[in-house]
Amino acid sequence: MTEQHDWTQAGFETKAIHAGYDPDPMTGAVNPPIYASSTFKQDGVGGMRGGYEYSRSANPTRTALEGALAAVEGGEHGFAFASGLAAEDTLIRSVCRPGDHVVIPDDAYGGTYRLFDKVEKVWGLDHTPAALTDVEAVRAAIVPGRTTMIWVETPTNPMLNIADIEALAALAHEHDAILVVDNTFASPYLQQPLALGADVVVHSTTKYVGGHSDVVGGALVCRDAELAEKIAFHQNSIGGVAGPFDVFLTHRGLKTLAVRMERHCDNAEKIVEFLVNHPAVAEVIYPGLESHPGHEIAKKQMKRFGGIISFRVAAGEQAALDVCAKAQVFTLGESLGGVESLIEHPGRMTHASVAGTDLEVSADLIRLSVGIESVEDLISDLEQALA
Ligand SMILES: *Cc1c(COP(=O)(O)O)cnc(C)c1O
Repeated sequence: MTEQHDWTQAGFETKAIHAGYDPDPMTGAVNPPIYASSTFKQDGVGGMRGGYEYSRSANPTRTALEGALAAVEGGEHGFAFASGLAAEDTLIRSVCRPGDHVVIPDDAYGGTYRLFDKVEKVWGLDHTPAALTDVEAVRAAIVPGRTTMIWVETPTNPMLNIADIEALAALAHEHDAILVVDNTFASPYLQQPLALGADVVVHSTTKYVGGHSDVVGGALVCRDAELAEKIAFHQNSIGGVAGPFDVFLTHRGLKTLAVRMERHCDNAEKIVEFLVNHPAVAEVIYPGLESHPGHEIAKKQMKRFGGIISFRVAAGEQAALDVCAKAQVFTLGESLGGVESLIEHPGRMTHASVAGTDLEVSADLIRLSVGIESVEDLISDLEQALA
């Protein structure tokens, strides 16, 4: 069960498939069994087999995924949670104390913003939203002596803004704060925040890591042993762990992440080309476009530019809603990162709750999560929806 082989020098795809688990010594099972067991028999009081006593603390199915996640992010320690937000809450409570302050993106994922603004704030943790595309704006938002964390998303949702991870890590460390990167949109295949100086990586594994829109989950990965110890303590104390069935699905998804991401990117690039040349489209937002303000930084820190595209419909809000209604291969729905293509209207759907605030998005905006179907079918679907 526990891993024998050292995969640290292996390539990304090899790690995604092999790290965290060696074939079961008893049966040879090539995949981690789903250990649907809350408790583990002890060989005499305190005589645990392989360190397992109770599945909130550790479960062998989860251990395998946690090892694989750590490996693909280039970290030492991985932790799997019941959702991305459970991972975030556990991290925040592991690191921050009442009176501390956090700098968050001014276009943070809605659930992350709500967690800081409606939940953590009640317990005395302050936050300042800042434009993370601008390192000086982040510097200005830091409260010396109180800021313990800078929280980064890149690319962001749905405007695909790009933050310079290396520059922000240096800034955080100048102030003895840690840099957290929510790597959900890029996935570890396209972006390696720990190698760029980040202290912790956060994932909603619900998205690209799981990749099949069939499971909700979250993860944390770090290198530092002291930080890992705090996270492990809080993971067990708070208890928002991923169950063995969910872990199985997430781990199965992770093994094909690299090939899926390549296809997500191939399809997205072709769709971007189609949209850029379409007269009904006012603007295409994609970090791979040279016109994107974050293009140079994205090129520096990402392998490719991902599977999410946002675009504005020239004829306005009703026309954008009509496109969403007419799409057939693209499924109208929230979330992202699955094999199937999704279309949504952020103004009325994912971002409806931020209407009237600084986070409001324009009403003619559409967001695509480009799946891995035949790209010809995706393009002809958009063609008929835009006609
Ligand atoms: C979905 C998402 C989350 C929250 O994850 P859940 O698994 O839904 O709890 C956090 N960050 C980003 C960028 C996301 O897309």
